Order: sequence, then C-alpha cells, then structure tokens
Amino acid sequence: MENNKPKIGIFGLTSCAGDQLAILNCEDELIHLANALDIRDWEMAQTNNDNTTLLDIAFVEGVVAQSRDLEALHAIRKRAKLLVAIGTCAVWGGVAAMKNQIPRDILKREVHGEEINILDSMPALPVKSFVKVDIQLPGCPIEKDQFLQVVTSLLRGNLPEILQFSVCSECKMRENACLVIEQGEVCCGALTLSGCNARCPSHNIPCGGCHGPIEEAHYDANVTMFKTHGITKDDIEQKMAMYAAPAWIPDKLLAEK
Ligand code: SF4
Ligand code: SF4
Ligand code: SF4
Repeated sequence: MENNKPKIGIFGLTSCAGDQLAILNCEDELIHLANALDIRDWEMAQTNNDNTTLLDIAFVEGVVAQSRDLEALHAIRKRAKLLVAIGTCAVWGGVAAMKNQIPRDILKREVHGEEINILDSMPALPVKSFVKVDIQLPGCPIEKDQFLQVVTSLLRGNLPEILQFSVCSECKMRENACLVIEQGEVCCGALTLSGCNARCPSHNIPCGGCHGPIEEAHYDANVTMFKTHGITKDDIEQKMAMYAAPAWIPDKLLAEK
C-alpha cells in the first residue's frame, strides 16, 4: 500500500562505505528515520530493494572512478527529484582523486602489474562533475548530526543550508591553542568546512582538511598568515589536496579523461 512518506534511496559509488555506515550508526535516531522515510532502495542495509520507483531524495556516497559508477549515477539522477551528495568523495573527489595526477597506464601497471587489466578505471571525480547535485554534505565520513539536520529540513519541505564557516571557528570556540601559531604545524582548519567541532586540533592533531574547503576562504590572507609561521603555500595546497584534489590541483595536472 502506498504511503505519503518521502521515498528515498541511499547509494554508494566507488567508496569505503563510511558515509552509509555513519547513517547506520545513527542508532538512537534510526528507528525515527525508518518511520519517517520510505526507504525504497538501500543495498547496504536491506535485502528487498526497488530499483525502479521514482525517488523524492537520493543520497549518493562515493566518487565516480569507473564507467559503471557513471552509469549508476545517471540512473539515480533520472529517478530522483533531489540528489544529495554525501561525503567528501561525492562532494570533492576525496582521497581517490589524488591519483588523477598520475597517468592511468602507470597507475594500472603499478597496482595490477603488466598482465592484469581488470578494472575499467577512470580519473576519480566528484558527482557534480557529471550530474546536477542539489545538496552537498561533505565529511570523511559525514557528521551524523549534520546528516540528521539535512534530513529534518527536507522532511519539513525546506532545502537545508550547510553553514559555511571554518574549522578554526569551532577550534576557537573550544578555546584550543592554535597549532599553527604555537607549533608551526600545517593545520588546514582556516580553509576547511566546519561540522566536526574541531575534532583533530582538539586532540592536538592538525586539521587535514577532510571536510573539504569552505566557500570563499580568505586564501591570500591565510597564505600570509601561514608564511609568518614558516609554512609555505605548497605545504597548504598539498595537504588540502588530500581530500579535495580537483579544487586544489591545477587542471593541467589532472589526468586524461
Ligand atoms: S568520504 Fe570518506 S567515508 Fe565517505 S566514502 Fe569517501 S573515504 Fe569513505
Ligand atoms: S589549530 Fe588549526 S583549526 Fe585551530 S585555530 Fe589553529 S589553524 Fe585553526
Ligand atoms: S579537524 Fe579537519 S581533518 Fe579533523 S575531522 Fe575536522 S575537518 Fe576533518
């Protein structure tokens, strides 16, 4: 029997499945999610999936790194009114996109040897490189609270807003001593989207930029600030490229398509 709950699907392209696991780890809230949503298609969590119905919302994790990812993504986009990219891979290309600088034949040879040619691999790129994305929720993995906020907004009929402030803001609110200023560490908090409550610097570990960059970062001011503490522009860009290479590595270095 039909119900009036939003029909949703949760999908993984090439990925570690960490964002889907983060959803499954919403232990206290999972029963409420299951009651509020009509989960039609979620291969990782249920056996009986419906892969034809039109969906109100599709959540997509992972990066496009094989032609089958691309086919799956186009099929998902056709079925979904709203597409939400979840996780830094889907939003920025994630760790997989770092490999784009290396020529494909060298990569294949180094990983699989001369004889084996089993993967139809392509340069890893985020979902928005191929289809329209309505909402982007980065994080490696996504933050549970942010995911729940996104779902709550959508259930109320609103488009969620991912607030654009930096990890530094959260770090300051926690009254941490700054690792750049005090220790000259390459901490990417000033350029990185918040949401983790400055998890790493709060444990004395520099931010590695796993949420990807904030919009409109004060890049030049940050470069100057880093420079006064002995950190170069290359240091910052190299670290920021670990999770968001397409945003930080010049196009000319990205591999052939
Ligand atoms: S964003 Fe992180 S957690 Fe999500 S699929 Fe990519 S590597 Fe895994
Ligand atoms: S430690 Fe890192 S995140 Fe915290 S204020 Fe300094 S640069 Fe920003
Ligand atoms: S502090 Fe930086 S690297 Fe650590 S979880 Fe937050 S965004 Fe990711």
